[in-house]
Amino acid sequence: MANETSERRHMSKPPLKTISSEVDAWIKATGVRYFDPLTNMAMLTEEVGEVARIMARRYGEQSEKASDKGKDLGEELADVLFVVLCLANQTGTDLHAAWRRRMAAKTKRDKARHAANPKLRRRVAR
Ligand SMILES: [Mg+2]
Repeated sequence: MANETSERRHMSKPPLKTISSEVDAWIKATGVRYFDPLTNMAMLTEEVGEVARIMARRYGEQSEKASDKGKDLGEELADVLFVVLCLANQTGTDLHAAWRRRMAAKTKRDKARHAANPKLRRRVAR
């Protein structure tokens, strides 16, 4: 039963294709056009920096300022994903196909690697 549901889910439009189309429609309707790829590359760096700020201050050893406390990690990660999807769309990259290839390669490469890593068996002291 679970396999049947899983199969049906995979037969519908893949999530990356769905959100990729959503971003493209949004750009055309609201964004006028894509920023050029190099501008989007800079935007990606900016958005990753916003994620890094939350990680360093909320989960790392930097103190979290009052102005940082309301920031939502999920929304900042979504900003990163949005720009990644823009870059894929505007360069004609099929991110879904690339994702499938990379997951297959990672699975093949790391099949025994992480299971054999003793560092992953102990918690890192904070
Ligand atoms: Mg952001």
